Amino acid sequence: MSIPEITDVRTCGFPGCEEPVDATAGVGRPAGYCANPAHNRAAAWRARRAESGRVERTVEDDKLPVDAARQRASVLRSQVAGMVEHLQQQLVVLVDELRTVADPDAAEAQIEAITSDAAEQVATAAARANRAETATRKAEAERAEADAAAEESAALVDELRTTLAALEQRAATLEGDLVTAGEDNARATAEITALTDQVAALSIENAATNAQLTETRELVTAATTAKDEALAAAREAVAQAAAASSRLERAETDAASTRDLLDQARTERESARAEALVLTGRLATVSSERDSATAEAGRERSYAEQRVTDVRAALEQQLTQLRSDLDQARTSEREQRTRADRAEAQAPRPTQK
Ligand SMILES: [Zn+2]
Repeated sequence: MSIPEITDVRTCGFPGCEEPVDATAGVGRPAGYCANPAHNRAAAWRARRAESGRVERTVEDDKLPVDAARQRASVLRSQVAGMVEHLQQQLVVLVDELRTVADPDAAEAQIEAITSDAAEQVATAAARANRAETATRKAEAERAEADAAAEESAALVDELRTTLAALEQRAATLEGDLVTAGEDNARATAEITALTDQVAALSIENAATNAQLTETRELVTAATTAKDEALAAAREAVAQAAAASSRLERAETDAASTRDLLDQARTERESARAEALVLTGRLATVSSERDSATAEAGRERSYAEQRVTDVRAALEQQLTQLRSDLDQARTSEREQRTRADRAEAQAPRPTQK
């Protein structure tokens, strides 16, 4: 279906353009460029120059490329001439050097120099070999030492393994101990908590006991005060009882002496009576003598009667006094007894002996 007339497959001559050549050109040589009007011969030349990277381009290069090129060619020609001269001089030196290369004397001199260098290098190599041998022996000795050290290390490793096994066993034991210690710790904590509770309870009880103790002390103090008061009262009662008993003894003594006085008075009265009887007898006796001694008898008689009367009055008076004293003593005794009884009744029981 393509058109078979199109056999020209050339591409555009502009650098980088892949379009086919425009085949519609009518007059003259085929342009060799695509249908793009910017792709012509001059533009392609400038593009190629730009691609070739020339530096010393001027505006004239675009305007008058031929003149610019001629000028530069002239400069280059003079430069090339200088270079040719230099090349000729170099060529002379080159020929001389090549002669030296081909000279057998020079070759022999070089061989000698090389042989000497080689001998020197051989000596250096031998010395190096010696050093290497020494180093090898040293290395072997070091290897032997290293082997010994390795054996020692192996033994040490075995020992360390044994130690490690023992340590692992010890670690297992310690873990077990740790678990046990943890349980013990938990128990101890629980016990501490219980003990703390007990301590709190005991503190409360202690406070209550202290309060009771204080109360009891106050009671004891009050009881002691009451006891002291009771003792003082008892001592006072004992003193009162002693005073009462001494007063009673004194009253009894007074009564006894009063009784003695009474007895004495009675005796005196009896003796007075007896005397009166005697005097009466004497009066009777004297009566017979009355006649003879009537005056004397009368005086005697009045005297005797007067004396009897006086004695009787005195005795009566004494008796009355004694009776009164006795009554008074009895009354006093009774009062003292009553007072002593009252004191005994007032005295508290502890004084009872
Ligand atoms: Zn083109």
